[in-house]
Amino acid sequence: MKKPNPVLTTLSAASCKLTRFVLRKTGRGGTAIPGIVAMKISPSILSAVSQGMEIVVVTGTNGKTTTCSMIEHALTEAGCDCLLNKSGANLLHGMAADLISSTDWRGRPKTRYAVLECDEAALKQVVPFIHPRVIVVTNLFSDQVDRYGGVRNTLKEIRRGVKRSPDSVLVLNAEDPLSSSLACKVPNKTVWYGMDASVGEQGNIDLTDAGTCPVCGGEYEYDYHVYSHLGGFRCKKCGRKRQDPDVAVLSIDEKTADGSTVHMRIDGAEQQVRIALPAVYNIYNAAASIAAVKALGLPAEKAVEALGTVRSAFGRLETFDLNGRRLQMILVKNPAGCNQAFSYVTGFDEDYTAVLCLNNRTGDGHDISWIESADYEKLCADPHLKKIYVCGDCAQELFERLKKAGAGPDRMEIVTDYRSLVSLLKQETMPAFLLPNYTSMMELRQALNAETGNKEFWE
Ligand SMILES: [Zn+2]
Repeated sequence: MKKPNPVLTTLSAASCKLTRFVLRKTGRGGTAIPGIVAMKISPSILSAVSQGMEIVVVTGTNGKTTTCSMIEHALTEAGCDCLLNKSGANLLHGMAADLISSTDWRGRPKTRYAVLECDEAALKQVVPFIHPRVIVVTNLFSDQVDRYGGVRNTLKEIRRGVKRSPDSVLVLNAEDPLSSSLACKVPNKTVWYGMDASVGEQGNIDLTDAGTCPVCGGEYEYDYHVYSHLGGFRCKKCGRKRQDPDVAVLSIDEKTADGSTVHMRIDGAEQQVRIALPAVYNIYNAAASIAAVKALGLPAEKAVEALGTVRSAFGRLETFDLNGRRLQMILVKNPAGCNQAFSYVTGFDEDYTAVLCLNNRTGDGHDISWIESADYEKLCADPHLKKIYVCGDCAQELFERLKKAGAGPDRMEIVTDYRSLVSLLKQETMPAFLLPNYTSMMELRQALNAETGNKEFWE
């Protein structure tokens, strides 16, 4: 790659900052335009602004944002200056905009570390510029089929990215037969994280995404399951199997709406770990964050301590207070994530309201047929679920799906706009779980923030 020209770097960085400033002043946050402008002026700007930085890139289907925020929190708590692309813009130009905006006017990085969330298909475009020290792949599930063309395709896209970054340490989920195959036939070192059979956690089993081995086409057998296709797998044909994790969850000792307490084995030593975010999938994210900090060459202990004070990221188990009642928002955008959210909300001994929102815009994927394979039956069978509000562009389709899943019309109501929805929620007396997909989450958050006086992340 050509050496960046310092004059162009300065010009490019300045244009990026200026464009971003103007866009935000006019009320538009988190956009790719500043990055497009910057890369037009200097195509190698990303190399220039990331030079000398220690970068962790996080990709995969579910858990990217939370894992990023856990790693960033761990680094900050350890006294390391760290950048996080928290705008949620995780494609090439959006990531460029976030990285460039955090430099000085001459395009020099102001922090030593960066934690960057990266879209699965964008990894191969980004890594040649930024040379990440660590690449975390959280997991792979079927997601946005119209955009990625199926989970096997997504795996291929990520593999292309890994091949362009042979010096990066991989952090992989030992129980995912798909993403774990990224460690095959590459020179990269790998740090594994996972849950041992002793955890005894068993959610929905769904092997449709990982019925056969991506390396040899053979069938899998499992010693135990965690959820979906995650578990103690072994390929009957090539023998590829779950690796023994460097960061292993041994038991889940407590699960509440405020978090979990678990036992982990880290580098052979057992210890108790408090995770200040609830839900089983966040235990995986927590283990991934410890593994990532280890992969950076820092003591795992720093990451362990930080998990006790980690806060939820934008829309990921984010909690709102509406007239003294707890509203918890969980972004759901694919069947595996949806089923995990249902496991969480149905796990309490308390009556509640559920709000389900579905859009099919570009940020969501236009194909909403995935709602057929999500386990709405499990949600609807929960006797504590007293009321369901359905909202969004595809409210009607979702309503029909819920009806099929056993939610009677007396428990359900379609609400046409988010302001009315918030007004209805204000009159409720039960806590509520809000389960929107991506663009409906943005609208719902806006309506809620208008009511509760919270601010958007860029304000
Ligand atoms: Zn195989």
